[in-house]
Amino acid sequence: MFTQRADGLRLLTVHAHPDDESSKGAATLARYAEEGVDVLVATCTGGERGSVLNPALDRPEVLADIARIRREEMAAAREILGVRQRFLGFVDSGMPGPDEPLPEGCFAAQPVEAAAAPLVALIREFRPHVVITYDETGGYPHPDHVMTHRITVEAFEAAADPRRHPEAGEPWQAAKLYYHLALSRAWFQTLHDAMTDRGVPSDMGELLAGWPDTPPALATTTRIACAEKFAVRDAAMLAHATQVAPGVAFMAHPRDIEREVWPTEDYHLARSLVPAAGGAGGAGEVEDDLFVGLRAGAGAGAGAGVGAGVGAEVGAG
Ligand SMILES: [Zn+2]
Repeated sequence: MFTQRADGLRLLTVHAHPDDESSKGAATLARYAEEGVDVLVATCTGGERGSVLNPALDRPEVLADIARIRREEMAAAREILGVRQRFLGFVDSGMPGPDEPLPEGCFAAQPVEAAAAPLVALIREFRPHVVITYDETGGYPHPDHVMTHRITVEAFEAAADPRRHPEAGEPWQAAKLYYHLALSRAWFQTLHDAMTDRGVPSDMGELLAGWPDTPPALATTTRIACAEKFAVRDAAMLAHATQVAPGVAFMAHPRDIEREVWPTEDYHLARSLVPAAGGAGGAGEVEDDLFVGLRAGAGAGAGAGVGAGVGAEVGAG
């Protein structure tokens, strides 16, 4: 069981593989953890089918022991970020080719409702006020990322419903569901332009040129200022040593430029059971806090604030 402070805010973020928590939204997690928010990372799979992406570690004995090594990397990243973490116990689906079937028994091959059950149990145990996951595209075309979105949306609903999964604990209604907008085209383009303007070589041009046609991005509803935690984010990412080669891809740009031109991590508020955008500003105002409408004393209406109304335990029957 989780030990909880009665007045504490709780944030749950659901990711597909070990390392996703460090590449998407990690500075947000570190910031909230430092502020005293109870932060939990749920990792759906063990990353067993991941490749070794760091040439320095691309050796047969590393690949043969990848499941154990990735657990150790996850534990190190968790410590760096100052958060808690649980594995949900599913097996990585890998990245099948266009006509390749999913491996038998893998995460993405599970029926959604059944696969959501461990997350329903975790939500009822941890009782998060805010849940973060990927949008319906997965943010990245990996079957485990799409499946992570599906089970999180399913569990957000099912955890609150006393008729669903009655064996999995007392119902809990989380108040807000957010989607990551991390590693967006706009982010890469802004950094690429800023580097080019300053005469800094950028290797993001090739990536941008090959960027697939994607539907219009989800609206940015929420920007979390977390530039002071970019170094913590980077350290957590590097703790996943098999998954990142230092100095490549999104690890390569100068951090002072990033802090200057994009000092936030951004989110789309997909579901809210509390008034969004801070009340006073009304719809359309960009939030600067995932817990807008949930902080004790904030908001005018009854039910605002942790422990009152939404976000509190719902009736069991
Ligand atoms: Zn992943």
